[in-house]
Amino acid sequence: MYTNNFISKIVDRDISSGKYSIIRTRFPPEPNGYLHIGHAKSLFFNFYLAKHYQGYFYLRIDDTNPNIDNDKYINAIIYDIRWLGIRWHENVKYSSDYFDYIYHYALELIDKGLAYVDQLSQDEIRKYRGTLTCVGQNSPYRYQSVKKNKILFLKMKNGEFSEGSACLRAKINMHDKSMIMRDPILYRIKFVRHHRTGNTWCIYPTYDFSHCIADSLEGITHSLCTMEFQENRQLYNWILKNITTDVYPKQYEFSRLNLQYSITSKRKISILINKKIVENWEDPRLLTISGLRRRGYTAQSIQEFCYQIGITKQHNNISISTLEACIRKDLNKKAMRTMAVINPLLVIIESFPEKYEEIITILNHPNILNMGTRKVIFSREIYIDKSDFREIANKNYKRLVLGKEVRLRHSYVIKANYVQKDNQGNIISVFCTHDPNTLHKHPQDGRKISGVIHWISAKKNVAAKFRLYDVLLNTKNIKHGDYLSYINQNSLVIQSGFVELGMLYAKRGECYQFEREGYFCVDTYNNSKGSLNLVFNRIVTLKHKF
Ligand code: ATP
Ligand code: MG
Repeated sequence: MYTNNFISKIVDRDISSGKYSIIRTRFPPEPNGYLHIGHAKSLFFNFYLAKHYQGYFYLRIDDTNPNIDNDKYINAIIYDIRWLGIRWHENVKYSSDYFDYIYHYALELIDKGLAYVDQLSQDEIRKYRGTLTCVGQNSPYRYQSVKKNKILFLKMKNGEFSEGSACLRAKINMHDKSMIMRDPILYRIKFVRHHRTGNTWCIYPTYDFSHCIADSLEGITHSLCTMEFQENRQLYNWILKNITTDVYPKQYEFSRLNLQYSITSKRKISILINKKIVENWEDPRLLTISGLRRRGYTAQSIQEFCYQIGITKQHNNISISTLEACIRKDLNKKAMRTMAVINPLLVIIESFPEKYEEIITILNHPNILNMGTRKVIFSREIYIDKSDFREIANKNYKRLVLGKEVRLRHSYVIKANYVQKDNQGNIISVFCTHDPNTLHKHPQDGRKISGVIHWISAKKNVAAKFRLYDVLLNTKNIKHGDYLSYINQNSLVIQSGFVELGMLYAKRGECYQFEREGYFCVDTYNNSKGSLNLVFNRIVTLKHKF
């Protein structure tokens, strides 16, 4: 739904009225964290909108706010955007490319009597600003002459003021209904090295001042952002009206993406990392692009999701099952099916010859024949999943039960006869017999076997760890209180089990469907190097949970 929403209708109108012949959009991430799925929504929308109208899409790193980790975040941001399959026009742009222009526009506003250097303390500025119900109060510095403001601003630029002791403010209206219009700050002092301009500057423009200027300099036609910037639009237009330019981009807002049981805010994610609730930005439980990638989500599935949710102004809290359905749909046609036993229970088939190994040929995908076949070894001792056996059960339990039969997937029908337990009464193995005439066939006397369970040879297999992920929050949406009190303590459960021998060659990042268990991905990081410690991340179960 990139081209049938209220914004694309505006673009349509602007093109057919001749207002624009070429449209330009941009994505302006601030390099203070990694991108998340909310950013993907914004990215795909801007990218496809420009593409649809044969316009240009720009990537602009909004680096007005210097931060020591800028470079690390920029590299991650660029990598993620490329990985999503998005390409931008020309080089990556940086807000800092425009620092000289922005500075000159500040001088222009001072010259026009529309900006002044304020020397109130930060606390005083806050107090003078007033509240939603009480108008603000003019700063005594508001009436300084243009000449004095110019001298003071130069002093700010030359590092003659300490941080927080002076700032440049627009002279608008301290009585405006909108707090944002009450003489907003345009420049503040920061003695912080900038990753691109080094120590050239010790004054940096605010988001509001730099953003509209960067949009205008790049010739952006439709500047799309999320609803929280709605009020800032007034200031955006005020600045462009009062500086010398003939390029007036228009800002339009749409709603942020929120997902149930999840967090889509860089600030909140960085708190989770600092508190060690998750490992880092790439933790597979996070809906960061890098977390989703490590979890096994494909770029296509994220794109499909963003397409499905569409663009509106309505507040939303999208069901996590919408995202999960997109990855299931994608992997259903891409992932090879294999068997894995995640929570193993030993089964001994006493009727099966001890030395014999049966080689069974299996299709890698039941509907996609060109995915080929593979060989799986069946032996007297196999593992099944603990949850697939019960000593007694009612008829709704269609798995292995003492005295009853079940089909082993791609193999024989077996019957459970007795169990062996340890001193604590835990079942350690199940003793069975098999019907030798049931390999790939129904029992010949017409017996109906209702259940099918998966298995792995206990002799020929590869040991593996399974990371079973679940949602990060245990509430759909946080109505009151802090998100930190809703952390799901079981968002990661690690199990040790077995996969087929052929998985010795599984490569990092590859996705598989483990029959009856879900889609899994070979973890990309150190602890799944080589076959000796294969680690699989569960991407998604086969059925909806929510
Ligand atoms: P966060 O709140 O996660 O820190 P942000 O808005 O500060 O995000 P920026 O890097 O400043 O992140 O945003 C870059 C662009 O991505 C902006 O245009 C912003 O509106 C958009 N964006 C951020 N979060 C979302 C979201 N959840 N849904 C849609 N768009 C988003
Ligand atoms: Mg931000």
